[in-house]
Amino acid sequence: MKTAYDVVILGGGPAGCATALALKQNGASSVLVVEAGNYEKVRVGESIPPDTRLLLEKLDVWDCFLEEQYERCLGSASSWGGDELGYNDFLFNPIGFGWHLDRRRFDKYLAKCVEAQGVDLLTYTRFTDYDLCEDASFNLSLFHEVEKKETSVKARFVVDATGSKALFARSMGGKRQIYDQLTCVYGFFETPFDSYFSKLTILEAVEYGWWYGARLPDGQLAIALTTDAGFFKQEKLQNWKYWLTHLSETVHISQRLAGCGFDKDSLLIVSVVACHMDKVIGDGWLAVGDAASTFDPISAQGIHKALTDSLKAAETIVSCLQGNFDKADDYRVHIANQYANYLKNRNYFYSLENRWPESSFWKNRQKKISLEFQYALQSLN
Ligand SMILES: Cc1cc2nc3c(=O)[nH]c(=O)nc-3n(C[C@H](O)[C@H](O)[C@H](O)COP(=O)(O)OP(=O)(O)OC[C@H]3O[C@@H](n4cnc5c(N)ncnc54)[C@H](O)[C@@H]3O)c2cc1C
Repeated sequence: MKTAYDVVILGGGPAGCATALALKQNGASSVLVVEAGNYEKVRVGESIPPDTRLLLEKLDVWDCFLEEQYERCLGSASSWGGDELGYNDFLFNPIGFGWHLDRRRFDKYLAKCVEAQGVDLLTYTRFTDYDLCEDASFNLSLFHEVEKKETSVKARFVVDATGSKALFARSMGGKRQIYDQLTCVYGFFETPFDSYFSKLTILEAVEYGWWYGARLPDGQLAIALTTDAGFFKQEKLQNWKYWLTHLSETVHISQRLAGCGFDKDSLLIVSVVACHMDKVIGDGWLAVGDAASTFDPISAQGIHKALTDSLKAAETIVSCLQGNFDKADDYRVHIANQYANYLKNRNYFYSLENRWPESSFWKNRQKKISLEFQYALQSLN
């Protein structure tokens, strides 16, 4: 590791790694990625749509992606707004099918691609603080989690890719504009070889939220409930027995789980804050991926968005490093437009479910529409 870089990327998730790859493509030669973990802990967010392929091709990592042999996703089946399942398959999609990933493996594969491009990557290393230097560069404090050692590195430009925590953007005065907060409870199953569970993503809306199921690589199955924190607490859903009871009452998903073995130690509770930073770019820094905006998991667009941002971010950074700041405003508008589009789709999707007019979960999702739009429009101005 050198003591100074042109660009230091904080966070080695999809957004951070893709930004490093895109920077190399744009001619940046002095780039460091700092990642707090080592891709060992379970990560969630596993469905990617077919057109993610175009972004992986642009980043020149598509062939390596195919070698990972993830689970093909042939479309989705959803009971949403009606009791029967409706189908949306990728059969007629010109780009082909989508994928269900093992997120640990996917993030690690991107990190390997980054290293293969000659970018320095520090794992187990957490960004903790920064100082602004006289020459307008940043002095970043880092902490090695295993060696318990502090170091520092200088950066002319900093990329905040720390996910929804947005650590750097927030320390630069950015504030999260929160529109919605949800709780997701994930459980993992082993599927028998001849499992009935299909290669379609399955969604089932219920009075208190929605269930999701996806077949993962290596015979695993992810099942998740998205609900309000209040319902989660009231029903004690951190306890796998209560979670499983609710799951057994679903109509479509429970049927498909016949013969699948539940790993009761796998229950994972994730709090989701769907939000947007009011400041995504400043002098010598920008935010990408979830650090810039975090979508509700119903969109299943977080990785696609992270890769899209990274391509735009790399162009912006290279031009800022050359002293041309014209692209900075384009980047801000890109994030704002993308967020406005997401809100439009998300609101449309939630508005389709009217079977439980008294349900607080659905009322909470639907009443936010006008507020969200007002904000999205403001940030475009
Ligand atoms: C319940 C749930 C379901 C989802 N489902 C889907 C889905 O089906 N499809 C989809 O596309 N998206 C999904 N998403 C969203 C998707 O997971 C995110 O959008 C995506 O991971 C964003 O990538 P990122 O690189 O911006 O952030 P992250 O993936 O969060 O990566 C941030 C990285 O920064 C590192 N980091 C954090 N702090 C520090 C620090 N101080 N120093 C150094 N490194 C640090 C972390 O270790 C991590 O590696 C889901 C999200 C949730 C919560």
